[in-house]
Amino acid sequence: MDTNVNMTPEEMQQALEKAQRELQATLDKMTPEERAQAEMNAQKAIAEDHASMQALLDEAAKAAGGEIAQPKPKFCGNCGAPAGNGQFCAYCGSPLN
Ligand SMILES: [Zn+2]
Repeated sequence: MDTNVNMTPEEMQQALEKAQRELQATLDKMTPEERAQAEMNAQKAIAEDHASMQALLDEAAKAAGGEIAQPKPKFCGNCGAPAGNGQFCAYCGSPLN
């Protein structure tokens, strides 16, 4: 049998108040340090969730458009030619920054 179905509103109210008293009793037993620690642990867990979600988003972005993660191709400031990775332009010999 399902006890929840047979509970009167008064009984449900009493059960709720009992649960709240038990929660309060647990919190009262904790020292401020323990409460702060529990709060920190919760925040850390949330931060880790965010970090792993960000990692997944980064992976997805890389998979969607690999060239986004690549360094921008250099162009010669003098002649505008695509200059590759060298220190000097392959076309006009100007030094590349
Ligand atoms: Zn050049």
